[in-house]
Amino acid sequence: MKDKPKVKDKTLSVREQKFQEIRKKLLSQREELLTEADASLSALPEENVFSEMGDQASSDTDRGFMLRLRGREKKLLNKIEEAIEKIDSGNYGACEVCGEDINVKRLEARPVTTMCIDCKTEQEEEERLKKDI
Ligand SMILES: [Zn+2]
Repeated sequence: MKDKPKVKDKTLSVREQKFQEIRKKLLSQREELLTEADASLSALPEENVFSEMGDQASSDTDRGFMLRLRGREKKLLNKIEEAIEKIDSGNYGACEVCGEDINVKRLEARPVTTMCIDCKTEQEEEERLKKDI
């Protein structure tokens, strides 16, 4: 594994600035999902309602809450959480297959993506082939 040395600049690069914008988008998207889920779970007692206490404090109450979310929403929420975590830890924007930087335009259009367009296309191609068999 070859690690490119990462030069840490004091000022945010354009890419990092974009990531912060994406992070904001992800946060509001998460909020929306949780609000929607909350609306459909309004019969639950109040302590189960997601509150904005920060990520660590909410993990336990969230778990039960998350279990009640429908599968698709839960998947998306997990992806959003993952993306936010990656942004925070500085690991965001790299393709998890080939390790290359994912085009920032692609990230903006699809912030939860973890693959560059080449790898994604390849994967979709493979999936389609599997379905055809
Ligand atoms: Zn890739």
